[in-house]
Amino acid sequence: MFQFPISNLQFPIMSCIFCEIAARRAPADIVFQDEHVTAFMDKHPRAPTHILIIPNSHIESVDAIADDAAAWQAAQCLRAAREIARARGLSGYRLITNTGADAGQAVFHLHFHLLAGRKMGWPLG
Ligand code: 5GP
Ligand code: ZN
Repeated sequence: MFQFPISNLQFPIMSCIFCEIAARRAPADIVFQDEHVTAFMDKHPRAPTHILIIPNSHIESVDAIADDAAAWQAAQCLRAAREIARARGLSGYRLITNTGADAGQAVFHLHFHLLAGRKMGWPLG
C-alpha cells in the first residue's frame, strides 16, 4: 500500500500564507532570502522596523522543534536576524517568537519578529 511520506513534506497540507510568501507565490516586501530563510516586512508593523524571519520549510512553532534538523532551521533564522540587523545598522533589536495561541501566535509557521527603531519597554505586559 502506498504510504504518503509525511516526514518529507516540503509544504503543509493546509495552505500556509508564510509558505506561500517564502515560495514567492504570495506578495510580501522581502528584505532577505537565502535557501534556508526568508525575511519580510510585517504587514502591521509594531515598530519602525518590524521584520518577520521564517524558515523556508514549514515548522509550526518552537514547540514543533523536535529534532536537530528543525533546530538547525530555526538557528538559520537567528543567523539571518544578525545579518539583517548589521546590514541595517540597527543599534539594538528585539526578537520575539510567540508560541501557541495563548501566547498570541496567529500564524502557525515559525517566525521571529525582529523589532527595532524605538525604545522597547521591559518587562512585557
Ligand atoms: P503572530 O501573532 O503569529 O506572532 O504574528 C503574526 C504576524 O504576521 C503579525 O504581526 C501579522 O501582522 C503578520 N502577518 C500575518 N499575515 C501576514 C501577511 O500575509 N503578510 C505579512 N507581511 N505579514 C503578515
Ligand atoms: Zn508554512
